[in-house]
Amino acid sequence: MASGVNVDAPVAIVTGAGKGIGRACAQLLGSRGYRVALLARTKQDLDEVARGIPQSLVIAADVSKHAQVERAVNSTMEQFGRVDALVNAAGVAPILTIEQTTIETWHEVIDANLSSTFYTCRAVWPYMKKQNRGAIVNISSAAARDPFAGFTAYGAAKAGVNLLGLSLAREGAPHNIRVHTVAPAAVETEMFRKIASKEQYPTEKTLSPEEVAKTVFACIAGDLQHTSGEVIWIHKQP
Ligand code: NAP
Repeated sequence: MASGVNVDAPVAIVTGAGKGIGRACAQLLGSRGYRVALLARTKQDLDEVARGIPQSLVIAADVSKHAQVERAVNSTMEQFGRVDALVNAAGVAPILTIEQTTIETWHEVIDANLSSTFYTCRAVWPYMKKQNRGAIVNISSAAARDPFAGFTAYGAAKAGVNLLGLSLAREGAPHNIRVHTVAPAAVETEMFRKIASKEQYPTEKTLSPEEVAKTVFACIAGDLQHTSGEVIWIHKQP
């Protein structure tokens, strides 16, 4: 953790913080004074992100494993003492025909995108409830309503994220816990470029990770507080 500790600063946990959308969310939260716990499997990526955030905690964890998620949330509480926001941006999005989707792959995709979201929400929930305060933003996808062929497991996982968000938003409302779902179309990240080349899908048509992060931050800061439970669909404006 970098020096200049502010024990009153709000705390966010960001999964998938090593790259792409999660990284942009972590950077924006850090620049707005949040202490940020950074989660992904690749520590090297997280160390790089941490260097640009005044108060951060690097936690190498596979969020598709519930025990690792619980350990990460406990470490965050030990280090920072509170959790005001959670951003679930970790995910994988392979394009696979149904014949190529092995039982193992199905579970991997569901676990990385949907179970991980349940695990993190479940782990922070008692703390947010006790604080009577919290904002959760789950990154879904346009694939939840308009999937490419080959997004069978991914689209199903993200549709699950949407409903998980609605149900938790209703459960969280009496405890002042908001649960937002942000569902972008194509975003200029490594994940998207594994799926489509610039010839197939030009950069002018993609959102930047920073644009998505702005919407995520507006949910956390409260500008979009009335959207708790809803899916915020975002796409590049023509
Ligand atoms: P990305 O550039 O591939 O970054 C994904 C991040 O998630 C990486 O830091 C990765 O790090 C981490 N991650 C993946 N699996 C993980 C696991 N099991 N445990 C912990 N961390 C894990 O992807 P992105 O495009 O930013 O996507 C972020 C989110 O937005 C995803 O949920 C994705 O489905 C969604 N989304 C993306 C797009 C798009 O066009 N890019 C559109 C709609 C929605 P490690 O591999 O090191 O763990």
